[in-house]
Amino acid sequence: MDLNNKIEKIGIVFAMKGEALATIHHFNLERINGNYPVELYGNAENKIVVSLNGTCSFTGVDNVGTQAATLNTYVLINEVNPDIVINAGTAGGFAHSGAKIGDVYIGTNRVVYHDRRIPLPKFDEYGIGNYGLINTDYLAKQIGIKQGIISTGNSLDYVDRDLQLMKMSNASLKDMEAASVAWVCQLLNKTFIPIKSVTDMVDGGIPTEVEFKANFNLATKNLNLKLIQLIDFIYQKTMEEIVSPEK
Ligand code: SAH
Repeated sequence: MDLNNKIEKIGIVFAMKGEALATIHHFNLERINGNYPVELYGNAENKIVVSLNGTCSFTGVDNVGTQAATLNTYVLINEVNPDIVINAGTAGGFAHSGAKIGDVYIGTNRVVYHDRRIPLPKFDEYGIGNYGLINTDYLAKQIGIKQGIISTGNSLDYVDRDLQLMKMSNASLKDMEAASVAWVCQLLNKTFIPIKSVTDMVDGGIPTEVEFKANFNLATKNLNLKLIQLIDFIYQKTMEEIVSPEK
């Protein structure tokens, strides 16, 4: 990452269309070309591009999870070549770390996996992932959002071992995409920022799917408000200005 590079083009990876609609409308984005199933929406000169995982042709639901997010991020970077990639979406939050329904978080420190359990030397570490992020302290303060470590897996629920691993990683949030977006960004040398809003409490006792549905609109509204603020703030700034402007 060159700290003097200006952020002129922003790519935003979403899993679900319902999470992205407010941002697509706010910036008047229109459907542009994109490889199936990924759906790209851009404005003039594609300064801001929203990229959706797309829908499953068998079931009609949004393609959620790491496979679709990996493909999405690759297609976005390949077709649009943004200066920075944001992964915006919803997540489960941990009450013990202070998370509340509707809170919006920016990722901090690193993004990890909790369901890639490979108990072999080095592969155990590879499974967890540990994709480092830029320092988001300044951004969190400017936008007025919390910071937390995000842990990714391919299930909306979890088994006990997932929970242990999320605790070991000090995760505040549990989602299904962030680590895979981080991986592609690392491979293709793109700065990556995850921003997630809380639809459900992982350690709250209510079935996730019930809470997810009940709080989706509130969480999505808050997510889009903060995402738009984040985009407006970083647009045309240099990497140095968004990471450590006082220097
Ligand atoms: N039940 C939903 C399916 C969405 S899957 C529906 O009926 O539409 C969940 C999506 O929200 C994923 O993209 C994931 O990143 C995010 N998410 C929200 N809460 C989550 C949690 N507790 N665990 C994992 N992912 C979660």
